[in-house]
Amino acid sequence: MMQKEPRSDEKTISSLLQHFSGDVLLPHHSGYEKARRVWNAMIDRSPPAIVRPQNVEDVKAVVRFAADQDMLVSIRGGGHNVAGGAVADDALMIDMSQMNHIEVDPEAQTAKVGPGTTWADVDAATQEYGLATPNGLVSTTGVAGLTLGGGFGRLSRMWGLSADNLLRAEVVTADGRLVVASEEENTDLLWGLRGGGGNFGIVTSFEFQLHEVGPQLLAGPIFYPFDDARDILRKAVDFAVEAPRECFVAMVCLTAPPAPFLPEHIHGKKIVIINPTFIGPIEEGQKILAPLRNLANPVADLLQPTEYTAIQSLLDEQYAAGMRNYWKSHNYTSLNDEVIDIIVDLASHFPSPESDILVTHLGGAINDVAPEATAYFHRDAEFNVALGARWQDPEDDQECLQWARQGHSRLAPHGTGGTYVNFIADAGNQVDVAFGANYPRLVQLKTKYDPHNLFQINQNIVPSETEG
Ligand SMILES: Cc1cc2nc3c(=O)[nH]c(=O)nc-3n(C[C@H](O)[C@H](O)[C@H](O)COP(=O)(O)OP(=O)(O)OC[C@H]3O[C@@H](n4cnc5c(N)ncnc54)[C@H](O)[C@@H]3O)c2cc1C
Repeated sequence: MMQKEPRSDEKTISSLLQHFSGDVLLPHHSGYEKARRVWNAMIDRSPPAIVRPQNVEDVKAVVRFAADQDMLVSIRGGGHNVAGGAVADDALMIDMSQMNHIEVDPEAQTAKVGPGTTWADVDAATQEYGLATPNGLVSTTGVAGLTLGGGFGRLSRMWGLSADNLLRAEVVTADGRLVVASEEENTDLLWGLRGGGGNFGIVTSFEFQLHEVGPQLLAGPIFYPFDDARDILRKAVDFAVEAPRECFVAMVCLTAPPAPFLPEHIHGKKIVIINPTFIGPIEEGQKILAPLRNLANPVADLLQPTEYTAIQSLLDEQYAAGMRNYWKSHNYTSLNDEVIDIIVDLASHFPSPESDILVTHLGGAINDVAPEATAYFHRDAEFNVALGARWQDPEDDQECLQWARQGHSRLAPHGTGGTYVNFIADAGNQVDVAFGANYPRLVQLKTKYDPHNLFQINQNIVPSETEG
């Protein structure tokens, strides 16, 4: 891949100020230290400068400046990418947090959303009208990165990925032009934005389809002792396979935190959490989800009618920023007994008390879309299993990385061979696997919209001219 020589002298960067109305943070400025940090504490990078565009003109100015100066750029949405795609040592960091507008059109059931928003912001605004669009399981995650990689969560079996609900986007491309991607204009670009990541330009506005949701849904975790893990996971997976698309069932193995809603004797012990959501009337949900309450003797049961915005933030504290993280995941069409045995064995040997294994329930409306209809390829998956190593002390790095890598190898033979681009922790690793048979078309699109690979601090699709 072509690598540009970084141009990082402060004088050059200060010259950008003439055409830029947003903040420019240099390493000696107060605020720089905080602004360079991202969700994953493993990522400790110091860009030559951090710029915060206020509007589209600023984004155009910074893209033209970077292209003229032969300077790499990284784009920060919510800063949650586990591989740290928002920041690099030798790239100008474009922090989109100031562009955080949200306009909901309740009649059309659509929302126009800025690239600096989080899903907590968007859910709060759309729920004012009893509406929502599919997004992730943790509300602090950025709208931009999650949508551009696909984006699945509690509503996805009903209405598809975040990317499937992306109707229109405004994008500043590598040549500094603002273009619209929609079903009418630049349809190829819309195709690529629906799962191809931040490869094609800087999105300055996302427009989403909304759906009627809540305000309350039946949702919440049911906690089971780990002794019964194999049996509980088997039954929960069998339930999930047969469940209507109104049901979403997340399954997690982790070490119980000292939470007030858990009995003290379980604190610090391993547990299995079955965490369903029913998208529909509460009474119907009570009937349909009932079997999940009796998979064994629960140690706590918080499955109850809950505000949709509260459901969306239930896991925020567990996945708070500032820990060291390393993830590995595979997609599955089914989870056989052997996979469940491996999951239970891996959970029995967590490398740290904060690590977990998350089984995400996919399928439903996600798989109604043909694999080649959008950049997001893996439409056959019914589950994603993610090994999440999470720890505090850098001295534990090797042990934690090894646990995830070895577990990933053990699980590999049972998967579809596909993985989720937004869960890849090693930048550049498995990118072709994540895009599957759509990869060649993505290379063509990248070559059209970013032939010199200005946007390469991401899960990079290398344009054909710069290969070799
Ligand atoms: C705690 C946690 C929970 C998660 N849960 C889920 C989940 O339930 N479902 C799911 O699908 N994913 C989930 N993810 C993964 C998530 O989708 C990715 O981490 C995603 O990259 C986060 O987006 P961001 O904007 O916060 O990230 P950032 O790190 O800010 O950005 C990631 C990448 O997106 C690109 N990008 C950002 N903004 C723009 C823009 N305006 N224009 C063009 N490119 C841009 C850049 O290439 C950047 O490298 C989770 C992640 C975390 C940390």
